[in-house]
Amino acid sequence: MSADVLRMSAASLAAALAGKQITAEEVTRVFLERIRDVDPQIHAFLRIDEEGALATAREVDRRRDGGENLPRLAGVPVAVKDVMTTVGMPTTVGSAILDGWEPPYDATIVAKLRDNLMPILGKTNMDEFAMGSSTEHSAYGPTRNPWDTDRIPGGSGGGSAAALAALEVPLALGTDTGGSIRQPAAVTGTVGVKPTYGSVSRYGLVALASSLDQAGPCARTVMDAAMLHEVIAGHDPRDSTSLPDPVPDFVGAARRADVGGVRIGIISELTGDGYQAGVMQRFTEAVETYRGLGADIVEVSCPNFSYALAAYYLILPSEASSNLAKFDAMRYGLRVGDDGIATVEQVMARTRDAGFGAEVKRRIMLGTYALSSGYYDEYYGQAQKVRTLVQQDFDAAFEQCDVLISPTCPTTAFRLGEKLEDPLAMYLNDIATIPVNLAGNAALSLPVGLAPEDGLPVGLQIIAPHRQDQRLYNAGAALEAALEDQWDRPFIEGLQ
Ligand code: GLN
Repeated sequence: MSADVLRMSAASLAAALAGKQITAEEVTRVFLERIRDVDPQIHAFLRIDEEGALATAREVDRRRDGGENLPRLAGVPVAVKDVMTTVGMPTTVGSAILDGWEPPYDATIVAKLRDNLMPILGKTNMDEFAMGSSTEHSAYGPTRNPWDTDRIPGGSGGGSAAALAALEVPLALGTDTGGSIRQPAAVTGTVGVKPTYGSVSRYGLVALASSLDQAGPCARTVMDAAMLHEVIAGHDPRDSTSLPDPVPDFVGAARRADVGGVRIGIISELTGDGYQAGVMQRFTEAVETYRGLGADIVEVSCPNFSYALAAYYLILPSEASSNLAKFDAMRYGLRVGDDGIATVEQVMARTRDAGFGAEVKRRIMLGTYALSSGYYDEYYGQAQKVRTLVQQDFDAAFEQCDVLISPTCPTTAFRLGEKLEDPLAMYLNDIATIPVNLAGNAALSLPVGLAPEDGLPVGLQIIAPHRQDQRLYNAGAALEAALEDQWDRPFIEGLQ
């Protein structure tokens, strides 16, 4: 039974729980045991909350036995990226500067998990302050890819993605500022969604770049992502950028799974040169699958996407340098060198020197420079103009298409250490995911098989216009169902 539970989708777990074929406590125990067995090799988790998770599970069982009508995902365990504040569990953001910090409040999306009676198994590992594409920048050591433990699980949300791929949890939360949900999903053979900016609350997320950050669902199937997305979406008066829209029927869209007559655009700038052969092969096959399902395939050009990466690496560090100014040894976490003689400035400097890792320092310096007087117009101002051009490219493309597609990233999972000393090579991994963050619209990554040359998962990205996230679920579920017949889910079968 426990092997079955591990491999079940969240949707089938929810059904088994509702039908009383299994109790929430049993389900939670199976996953906790799996974490104990495999996490020493994977290191997806920074903290496990066994007691808290079991308490929620028992409450679910008690209320269900009492005949109560419970939320759809009640009793289905979930993991939370360590960028989200949680009462009763520290929130470190993968940084030494917040080591052991216990937030006094829950992020809105964490509170929603609790309201939905989902046992929270623990907090997942991430690149420090969500800066990175490999989880190697975590101050607590890297997470490993369950497909090959010498490889990276993507980043910054490598912990959530690896936990899903290693069957340690059926659902997880992530954040995506430049691809940190989609790229880890792609390289671990899982599903990740970056919702429309403002449609999921950012309250209680430790900010990286506030105009780009967006939380979203991580799962193993498109339907599971849709279900979790419905739980976390919706207006939040505590987030001033929160949209007032009602939550769309994502589950209904995933159930529809019909791309007949849907216009799907291939973004020519995000294919071809620079993309691994096996990634392109699986992508091209997926396009043919879509064609076979009755979609109209068109080719679109988004010429300004070639400047998106450069603009992002000015806008993100600028916002980050400002957001991270509050980690000053006075208010949160670490304090170094406060010997009674040192000045406040010295304590701040020593703490930031000891508490931040190299990548965080690099970006603070980049951002401070880009914002400095005399350079503001040349760098930050210029990058904002590119941002507008990227948005206009999307607007033009969506006049011809209902959704756009591309590979999620140029390669499969690279080796640990391979890009650590070469920040630019690391940044280039985000080439296909970043335009969406700059424009604020929605995108999903789903697995489309394994690259023949290395046997590692390949992800396909589906992009929808603002506030049309449901299109991701319709198009994603249609492809997922077709690939299941074709490949018998190699992305699940390949797991040890
Ligand atoms: N890899 C990207 C970066 O390093 C994305 C980060 C993110 O989405 N949090 O900035």
